[in-house]
Amino acid sequence: MTIYDITRTVTPEIAVWPGDQHYSVKLSASLEQGDSVNLTTLVLSPHTGSHADAAFHTEHGGTHPAAEKLDAFLGIARVVTVSKRDGALLPSDFPEGSLEGVQRLLIHSHVSDSPDERWPDVFPYLSEILIQQFAEQGGLLIGLDSPSVDAFDSKALHCHHALRRCGLFNLETLCLAGVPDGDYELIALPLKLDLACASPVRAILRTL
Ligand SMILES: [Zn+2]
Repeated sequence: MTIYDITRTVTPEIAVWPGDQHYSVKLSASLEQGDSVNLTTLVLSPHTGSHADAAFHTEHGGTHPAAEKLDAFLGIARVVTVSKRDGALLPSDFPEGSLEGVQRLLIHSHVSDSPDERWPDVFPYLSEILIQQFAEQGGLLIGLDSPSVDAFDSKALHCHHALRRCGLFNLETLCLAGVPDGDYELIALPLKLDLACASPVRAILRTL
């Protein structure tokens, strides 16, 4: 069995959404200073690195990670590579038959080749037609290596809203470099955070 770690490494240098909080770590107790432990306090946006958005991110009164159902984040998933570098992904952008019967779809684009520290200037994102078609076939989750399911400059966030409307979950900022296309077991559970609008995940794929 092979495990692929498809999680971005969270460091103070990791690229975050322009204007969002950078990750930082403060030592509040230190072995070097004579304390009995090292104790750290973290400051981060829950959208740092690989993460799952919660409904509260885009919906008034939406649920927080602690209350999200977990079945979407655990189970058989398919990795599919797309060649589109920018713009909305339509069903026709995927290889023939590659989406059939898929419940968890992980989309591998050029963005996975970007280092953790570099914000991708262009990235592919979802479309409402892709989301709707995927939901109709019993889909549960769509994960991307892109930092958003919508265009960078989108204010309406049609794809975020379409995902919620269709009962789908998403993962963003995965890193699928070196993962061959195919079916795997996905494990990417959000932390049980109340009040937050998203949660970091440790996303892994296990070969079947
Ligand atoms: Zn997000």
